[in-house]
Parts: sequence; structure tokens; C-alpha cells
Amino acid sequence: MTADLVERLRTLGWTDFRHGHFHEQFALGFRAARVVAIHRGVSIVDDGAGERRARVSGRLRHTTSAASDLPTVGDWVAVQTAPNARSMALIHAVAPRTSVLLRKEAGRRTGAQALAANVDLVLLAEPLAVPNVRRLDRAIALAWESGALPFVVLTKADLSNDVPGAVAAVRERLPGVDVVAVSTFTGAGLEDFVRGLQPGHTAVLLGPSGVGKSTLLNALLGEQRARTATVREDGKGRHTTTHRQLVRLPNGALLIDTPGLRELQLWGAAESVDATFDDVSALADQCRFADCTHETEPGCAVLLAVEQGTLDVERLRHWRQLRAELAYLERRDDQRAAIEAKRRDAIGARLGRARIREKYR
Ligand code: GDP
Ligand code: ZN
Repeated sequence: MTADLVERLRTLGWTDFRHGHFHEQFALGFRAARVVAIHRGVSIVDDGAGERRARVSGRLRHTTSAASDLPTVGDWVAVQTAPNARSMALIHAVAPRTSVLLRKEAGRRTGAQALAANVDLVLLAEPLAVPNVRRLDRAIALAWESGALPFVVLTKADLSNDVPGAVAAVRERLPGVDVVAVSTFTGAGLEDFVRGLQPGHTAVLLGPSGVGKSTLLNALLGEQRARTATVREDGKGRHTTTHRQLVRLPNGALLIDTPGLRELQLWGAAESVDATFDDVSALADQCRFADCTHETEPGCAVLLAVEQGTLDVERLRHWRQLRAELAYLERRDDQRAAIEAKRRDAIGARLGRARIREKYR
């Protein structure tokens, strides 16, 4: 392999350690490549000289017992490229993984599914104003179990009056885990965050829907997204565009973002803020109207307390923001659940039709 090609592989996360592991494959004439996307069972691999479509060799498929051992995004694979540049490359081997994120679904016949491989860093996003530490705890355990390092990203820092306090509170509950606070709106903390993503290291970004992952990704990628995020896929008269699922950030770090990862069920529903706002909640219970919005209503105990100086107006503002934030997160979760249910129905109907066709053939 030329030094130039090695350098280009390095930009995809290649290391000397991996080089050592590939001697046998190189001796067989195979090239090293990284899986940057998977689309309908076809891998898109990058061997440093460019992207191409690749499929698993029959031999590899037959000697692999678990589906989760087949190539997934982030895998390093040994490929044989066809002399005809238009035809597909063959994947002969999957290199040992340093980490793998699995989706283990109970009752699924295919067993665990590998969602991403060779991930160094699992970025766990939580809203800074209402971080769910128990959820973080579980996600951190999963990250460690996968072989990657967890890194907590507290988002929407602009919604909090006390960012250092919020960060300190999370750090105290999660000793030994890196925690940063960011606001994509103001740009605060973004530099610290990016410093945590080392060039050549691979990260995934996980978190509940609505926490600000897409906004953060777009901020990290800048205008580059439009240029790098799509892979042109040509073949057999079909012209489709596949989203590249492993992308390189401007600072040289790599980020995997696959649809399956986003659905990874690490995340439960947002928890109530009422516990941290006992005093305001107790006041709200005393309002004359049960559906009081504490804005203008007569007999509002919350407004009265502010007037009398027993409730800080800033605290009330903060409480309102958190409630709005939670309501938003819950709405997002409901929408997602509805979409998911519709999708399942559609699949069910398709399967039903297929079975009927089968029966009357
Ligand atoms: P995702 O579901 O995790 O990808 O979340 P999105 O990136 O779609 O963001 C959800 C909502 O949060 C959007 O309305 C964003 O405009 C908003 N948002 C994202 N980042 C920030 C931020 O730093 N501060 C505030 N206040 N809102 C944000
Ligand atoms: Zn009220």
C-alpha cells in the first residue's frame, strides 16, 4: 500500500494497530476499506481512493453465524475490487471490532442487529435544563458495554440561568464521565465540545427526540453537509442517492449517524420537573382555576406569591420554560410513536397481502 493511501485511510480512522491486524488480508491482495453506509443490504465502502458499492462474499456470508457479525457502518473490511469500476466490490472479511453498538430486540428472529462498529465515543445528549440522570446512567452503562467511552452533552444551555451549576450537578451524579454544556443557538460550549472529538476518532450522537441532535450536527458540519452527506449510487439502471452515514467533521473526527441508531431505545419519556420545583407546584395547586396558566387569571396563587415577594420572578420564568420544554419533548415523542405505529400497520398490511397471494397461488 502506498504511503499516500495509508494517509487517506487515516482520515477514515485507520490506525497502526489496525494495520498490524490486516497483514494477512493484504497478503491475499485485499484492500482495507471502511463501511460508510449501508443501503438495502449493499455496503458503501471507502478505501481511501474513493467510494464504491460492495457486497458480502458468499463464503463470508456462509461462515458468519450471527447476523450482527456481518458488516455494519463503521466496520473495517477486506475488499476485492473488480477490474470493472462499475461493478460491485466483494467484502471477504470483517476486521475485529474495537466496539459495537447492538440493538437487541426481544422476540426478533434475527437476533441482535449491529448498528455501528468501531465507535470510540458515544455522545449522549440530554437537555441541560431537565437532564434525566437515570436515563443517562443506563445509556452510560450501554456505552461502556459496547466498548466505547460515554461523553455527556447537555444541550440548549441558553435556556438555563445557571449553566455551571447544572453541569456540576450532573458531574457529581456521574463521576468519571466527561460532561459539556452547549447551545447551538448561541454557540456557547461548541469549541469545548469539538475539542472532545479527536481527529480520527469515531463518535455517535444519541439522545431523546427533540433534544437538539440534528441542529447540533448541522452546526458541526456547516455547509459541508450538503457536499459530503450523500453518496451517489449507480448500478443496474437504478439511480438512487444514499445518505452517507459515516461523515467526517471539519476537525477530522468521524461521526456515524444511521437511522437505526436514532431509533435505539435507550430513551424513555421525559420525567416531570415538578420534583425540582416543589414550591411552585404547591402554589399552583392553590390557584382558583384547575387549568390556571398563571399568566393573568384571577385568584392565581403563583402570581400572588410573586407579587408578595415570596416567589422569585426568575424562578417562575425558569419553571415556565421547563414546562414548555417538557411539553415540547412529549409532543415530539407522541408524534414519533404515531408515525411508528402507522409504519408498522403499513408493513403488517403488506405482509398480510403477501400471505394471501401465497395462499391462492
Ligand atoms: P433532535 O430531534 O434531537 O434532532 O432535535 P432538533 O435538532 O430537531 O431540535 C429540536 C428543537 O430544539 C428545534 O426546535 C430546535 O430549534 C431546538 N433547539 C436546538 N438546539 C437548540 C439550542 O441550542 N437552544 C434552544 N433553545 N433550542 C434548540
Ligand atoms: Zn395560577
